[in-house]
Amino acid sequence: MKVLIVEDEQHLADGLRFNIEAEGHEVKVVGDGAPALEVLESETFDAIVLDVMLPTVDGFEVAKTLRERLDYTPILMLTARGRPEDVLLGFEAGADDYLPKPFDLNIFIARLNGLLRRRRWTRHEAKAAKTGRQISVNSRTIDFENLELRNGTELIPLTLMETKLLQYLIDNEGRAVSRKEILEDVWQLQEDTDTRAIDNFIVRLRKHLEDEPNNPKIVQTVRGVGYRYVNPA
Ligand code: CA
Repeated sequence: MKVLIVEDEQHLADGLRFNIEAEGHEVKVVGDGAPALEVLESETFDAIVLDVMLPTVDGFEVAKTLRERLDYTPILMLTARGRPEDVLLGFEAGADDYLPKPFDLNIFIARLNGLLRRRRWTRHEAKAAKTGRQISVNSRTIDFENLELRNGTELIPLTLMETKLLQYLIDNEGRAVSRKEILEDVWQLQEDTDTRAIDNFIVRLRKHLEDEPNNPKIVQTVRGVGYRYVNPA
């Protein structure tokens, strides 16, 4: 599979390249956000390892721009240690997973392989018969394996985290879940992070699922608690 590394620290980029190539993958390295976006216009990758702190165009901007282009290549974001708020900013920008620096190379490879595995399933299943898990909500179909939502003829790609959040809400159907629970269970974040970032994800889910996103019936706000999923069917 093909992996793009966007990292300006040459030493780290070389180490990552060495280890990813040792796993049998093809690697390309760029040192800033602008060349990354340029390369991604003409080449397809199976995953992107994206550093947040880059010389001119940062990792958040790269992720955001890609998702705006409807490019849903899985992104593993490398965040700075001691900046938990970057994790949520990264997910908001469209990252699929993150790793705080400095990290253990074995953990890095495990996370990257997780994204690549999902990518491989996605590709195979898109071609094979649709046996993936699908559910219907409000006459939309959500495909949890292929990370997409169908609304009539419209096909909306979902990010891994949007899908995970939706799955979590559905698993807790009828129950009010707090923002803190969501952060811990979906994002595996224990830190005392600003939980308002969750709200941006909820806004996006409502846009996809609700007839009137401003008057939500499916992903309801529970004042003083958090959110509750109710399937209208
Ligand atoms: Ca950097």
